[in-house]
Amino acid sequence: MINSMDEKSNAKNKKKFMQKQTAIIIAATILLSSLGLGAHKKTVAGNGNRTSIHQEDLGATNEENCDLLPMLTNPTAPIFPLQDTRLLPLNEANEKYKQYGRFLAIGMPYEEYQKAMNQEWRKAYVPGEPDRIVVDLRKFYAYKDYEWIMLNLSRYKGVDVYVIGKSEKGRNIYAISVNFGQNENAPRLMFEGQIHAREFAGSGYILKMISDLVIKAQTCEATRAQLSKIRIEAVPVANPDGREMNIASGSTRWNGNANGVDLNRNFISSGSSQVGNGYTQNPFTSSVPDNSFYPGPYLGSAKETQALMKWIECHIPHAYSYISIHMQGGGIYCGRDNDIETKKLASKKFGEELLAIFNRGVSSNKYSLLARTWVNNTLDGTNGFSTAYAYDVAMGYKFDPSLGRLLPVVDGVGMPSIQFKSLENIKHHLNPINPDIRIATIEVGIRVKGKAEPLGYTATTREMHHRDYFKYNFDKLLPQMFDMCIKDMNLH
Ligand SMILES: [Zn+2]
Repeated sequence: MINSMDEKSNAKNKKKFMQKQTAIIIAATILLSSLGLGAHKKTVAGNGNRTSIHQEDLGATNEENCDLLPMLTNPTAPIFPLQDTRLLPLNEANEKYKQYGRFLAIGMPYEEYQKAMNQEWRKAYVPGEPDRIVVDLRKFYAYKDYEWIMLNLSRYKGVDVYVIGKSEKGRNIYAISVNFGQNENAPRLMFEGQIHAREFAGSGYILKMISDLVIKAQTCEATRAQLSKIRIEAVPVANPDGREMNIASGSTRWNGNANGVDLNRNFISSGSSQVGNGYTQNPFTSSVPDNSFYPGPYLGSAKETQALMKWIECHIPHAYSYISIHMQGGGIYCGRDNDIETKKLASKKFGEELLAIFNRGVSSNKYSLLARTWVNNTLDGTNGFSTAYAYDVAMGYKFDPSLGRLLPVVDGVGMPSIQFKSLENIKHHLNPINPDIRIATIEVGIRVKGKAEPLGYTATTREMHHRDYFKYNFDKLLPQMFDMCIKDMNLH
């Protein structure tokens, strides 16, 4: 079974954990003595004056030097009778559902889904006092520089950093957890960035927001009090290989992962890569590996997607919000085309609350709510977004082995969403695990005529990222969202 941690695996993990603990102590002792430092201790104040440990010193900070975490829960585990876990080949699935439409990509094999949910996370930290690092968005950071910033953050009180998986090229994918209260059930503000490789601002913005906040929390009692009630969970760089490919080539074009899979089409959400009868296939779709729009050889195929899937499942049951940061220009996508009417209104409200933060004091090129009326995201062949997956998990959808994707469950049976245009008709059958979650895609980087391209990572582009960060109040986003969350969740 994959949806519960049985006694045996618990004992096994415990044993592994103890072995790792021993390994950590040994590795830490070697590292510390080689650096001439004292024992590891998380401290309240970051000291900017002490000698820096450079990332070259971090040889021991690989997975051999990390805690192994126990398995987490898996809310989308199938509830259907599992006599037959066979994935329907694409032609069979299309034959079976031809009265409703067609699928453009085959789903995820059940064994792979199980493997994704059983991935082990490793806690990553480097011993020592934290360096006071201020992220400067105008500066160039390679991925290894970001890795160092994240590992350095793990030295601060209230911060844990996890390796939640590897990219296709073997790079670590990190999740940062900020929580001063040790409250497992505290509401989470979730952030995910740079799932699209050329959209660099998301990773920089998330790392800057979090590192500035963490440094502030070391000396600010009020911030610590808020962080004892609310957790931040973030994956700043969801697509590290694609990021580095753009840097190596000087490109502003590459959006996919190293295999040309558009990770934001690769999720096994219910509406992924399906075209309803009577609907026009979105032109922004692709059936071959490319810089954009290719959903993969099958849904859920990419290692990066698999790492995010488990991270999403772990936190969504407790999430207040899920925000994915992209860079296609000046606005917010909020809500689903096929959503329940009351949820559509709630999503719009969340979008407007975010707009009020971003546009405060802004007189030109304001952010707006984006609605592409020519798109039906559930039936136009796109979907497969991380946000769509987060939504489906929150709505209580379950994995269906025959279609290899999440499906809403009606009277114990998975209903392929290609069958209906709106959830309104089945809303009383749904059993959401987090009905009030707020989900948004923020598209930063307004294109201004005659100004440089906001995509990519040139010096000019970084200058724009820096200017827009302050212009659109990203420096105030977390405190403002804390206030929203405390009010909405009654955390006073
Ligand atoms: Zn994007």
